[in-house]
Amino acid sequence: MKNFNICFSLLLSVFNLNAQNTPHEICGYQHEVERIMKSKPNFLKWQEAWFREALDKYNELQSSKRGDITADTLYFEIPVVFHILYNNNAENINDSLIHNQIVELNRAFRKMTKDTSRIRNIFKPIAADVRIQFKLATIDENGNPTSGITRTFTTRTTFATNIYGSYSNNMKVGGSGGKTAWNPARYMNVWVCDMEFPNYIGIVYGFATPPTGAPNWDNSITKDTSDLESGIVLHYKVVGVKNPLAPSKYVEGKTAVHEVGHYLGLRHVWGDGNSANGCLVDDGIFDTPNARVANATCGGQNTCVDASNDKPDMTENYMDYALDGCAAMYTKEQAFIMRYVLNNLRPGLPYREIVFDTAVAPIEGLQVNVYPNPIGGSKTLKVKITEAVSQPYTLNIIDMSGKQVITQNFMSNVVTPVEAAELANAVYYLTISNQSGRIFYKKAIITQ
Ligand SMILES: [Zn+2]
Repeated sequence: MKNFNICFSLLLSVFNLNAQNTPHEICGYQHEVERIMKSKPNFLKWQEAWFREALDKYNELQSSKRGDITADTLYFEIPVVFHILYNNNAENINDSLIHNQIVELNRAFRKMTKDTSRIRNIFKPIAADVRIQFKLATIDENGNPTSGITRTFTTRTTFATNIYGSYSNNMKVGGSGGKTAWNPARYMNVWVCDMEFPNYIGIVYGFATPPTGAPNWDNSITKDTSDLESGIVLHYKVVGVKNPLAPSKYVEGKTAVHEVGHYLGLRHVWGDGNSANGCLVDDGIFDTPNARVANATCGGQNTCVDASNDKPDMTENYMDYALDGCAAMYTKEQAFIMRYVLNNLRPGLPYREIVFDTAVAPIEGLQVNVYPNPIGGSKTLKVKITEAVSQPYTLNIIDMSGKQVITQNFMSNVVTPVEAAELANAVYYLTISNQSGRIFYKKAIITQ
């Protein structure tokens, strides 16, 4: 869309949206925004500020000689834990659905689903390979092996609280019929539970907590990496691909893709306005066409006609409501926003799992120690290479935009401190090269 004109008064509850002639409400994003604003009334203002910051960075990179930002080869991999809360066997969904949900998520974030062919030609050039991947956690909070799936019996038959789709957050509270999050700074928590109320009129199939606590926010705001409500909730019937209980239109596993978009900072493509003012309400993203309301069907619609560069509504976008049969893409700017969020607002998530494409030619038998990681309070990283004969090496620390932030020469067989006090809290990557310039070691490091 075209501007950052977010109208606070247009915030609608999920239930008001239901009352209008909009698609069946499937997502509790607005409800979550309203909940956050009760304790953080400036949430939208802050969100707008970090969107601006991120998009300034995007434009800077686009206009630099780096050219297309999608040429960036860095990948993130996020460890995920699914918490299954069940009161009956049907809710205790099979592992296979969780596994195929992860596969679908990964395909969606690499622009590799079979649905890529759905993208109309007009949008193909801006469809992004987001280069974020997801992996069921293999190590739990205590360092023990895990399948990345927890199963907890609950006495609650539903987490919805009325026929209109209102819900509680008890699924995230151990002792209240839920399961307490694993450290949200280290894992993406996904709760799977029953969100149906008997004889419901509205239902929320999923919701996610948007990131809070951006660097430019008030100091009193806690980063939600320590917020035990940080994560994603999915109705058990929409998890996975071809879930046998899924309502029609929700069999492709796209609800989870949509909610991960919110979790990584994206808003709905129509900006969550209402039909009267929807063309004035924005999602903060420039390469998604302006749209008045959510779309329930594929293609064709053009609910906001712009004065220049007008495009139809992007029903192919995962952040619209059309989903099954339509959804197949994130845009390049959405991709950048999600990567920015991961690097700046949820920096601990990909720490263990990060991979990147820096060419590395390992040297057999060379023992390298880089610690502590995360760097922690002392803000000093230590490096030591152990070998028979001491020789010089070069250490580089590079931020996620590819900028070199620290270079330091050191000798092997000595513990060398690397001062990192100047580095903002984020993920960086570290490489070590020998005298001939051969990069033989790489590691993701985090300062926090
Ligand atoms: Zn949503």
